[in-house]
Amino acid sequence: MTHDSAMIADADAWRSRDLAVLWHPCTQMREHPHTLPLVPIAYGEGPWLVGRDGRRYLDAISSWWTNLFGHAEPRIAAAIARQATTLEHVILAGCSHAPAVELAERLLAIAPREERRAPLTKVFYADNGSAGVEVALKMAFHWFRNRGELQRTKFVALENGYHGETIGALAVGDIPLYRRVYAPLLAEALFAPSPDAYLCEDGESPAQRATRAADALRELLERHAGEICALILEPRVQCAGGMRMHDPAYLRMARELCDAHGVFLIADEIAVGFGRTGTLFACEQAGIQPDLLCLSKGLTGGALPLAAVLATQAIYDGFLDDSRERAFLHSHSYTGNPLACAAALASLEIFGSDDVIARNRITAGRMRELSLPFVDHPHVADVRQAGMIVAFELTRNGDRRTPFDPAARVGLRAYRAALDHGVLLRPLGDILYWMPPYCVDDGTLQMLAGVTRTAIDQATSGATTTCA
Ligand code: PMP
Repeated sequence: MTHDSAMIADADAWRSRDLAVLWHPCTQMREHPHTLPLVPIAYGEGPWLVGRDGRRYLDAISSWWTNLFGHAEPRIAAAIARQATTLEHVILAGCSHAPAVELAERLLAIAPREERRAPLTKVFYADNGSAGVEVALKMAFHWFRNRGELQRTKFVALENGYHGETIGALAVGDIPLYRRVYAPLLAEALFAPSPDAYLCEDGESPAQRATRAADALRELLERHAGEICALILEPRVQCAGGMRMHDPAYLRMARELCDAHGVFLIADEIAVGFGRTGTLFACEQAGIQPDLLCLSKGLTGGALPLAAVLATQAIYDGFLDDSRERAFLHSHSYTGNPLACAAALASLEIFGSDDVIARNRITAGRMRELSLPFVDHPHVADVRQAGMIVAFELTRNGDRRTPFDPAARVGLRAYRAALDHGVLLRPLGDILYWMPPYCVDDGTLQMLAGVTRTAIDQATSGATTTCA
């Protein structure tokens, strides 16, 4: 057996062992292995994933938007290793440790800030994004309860928004694919129209669309005055909803409306935080500060699961009492895990030492140059960008009114074509996007653009027929 064929045999063996025992996330398992190839990964190196068969794949989606500086980043790896030999974990109820304290201090120091508003001053840890969202929702609800405002039981969320998959987080999500089946289990939420600029009517600007959406939000808040605890939204980009982007003006209007109605604003920056949209936090682009800020994914540079919910002093103070029931008793065993906190501290260090936000501006500029020619593709209806995120909306006639028949599985075809050419893209329906690790270099971006074009061409040719 040659070296290559031995590696291919090894990959096949791992595929079989995997499918014998694993149940994968976000996957119709029946599609493995034929419709959907399973890719056994041996190791990661910068923006690359190296398969057990020896093939290299560009991680163009930063492994579900978690990875910031490339895989197996040595400084993050070293911080985790150091911490592992000191204190791997300790209960955070009643105990404290340096990484949790230092990380909280650092996060509060860099959090979005409005001069006229009291800053975010407290950090509550959870261990993944959905759990962080649950924390924020429960905090908002419980705060009003502690004040005796028992009628404030509802949340407002945006249409096409996504906040995670646990039952509470799903209740404020609006993506039918994830939500519909579980709808009977979900707490009732109120959905306001999304400011999504892709939905602009003919002649309408993104700013006008934002104003129209804010008007609808105002009406909703007025109609349910005194019943709502919080508005939750993804600032700047609704990621799982198809990388749909909106004018930051919407965030300013939403912030004002929340203030006017005494409703908390929860910013879910789990996907967009830590530089993805060009600024460290997306809220900065609107100059707003939320009452609760949810962070996860890139928080640890993508190395370990961790979430942080940042809260105002007023929210924290609302739980101080002699009664245990008024306390925020929410608890996860791995809350504030020292290894994850150490990884997060190392990741924040890199932002400073490598001048990441400034360098990303150059990378984002290249992503813009490389993505603009796609506007002329006959099946591309929209190319949009927010910092380090670029999305391509594929439709039958290249306009916004002719989506492909979902049965044609255009996105899946593009996924397979890109994989054949060494790029891991994972389209959201028929929307392709780039969200690469920040260390991606110019040559790699050019390769990504070339493969994306090939993938779109292959996926859309004959896309009226159904994919096997
Ligand atoms: N909120 C947003 C905006 C997200 O994009 C995600 C994950 N895609 C979540 C919450 C949930 O995070 P997790 O997958 O870590 O539960």
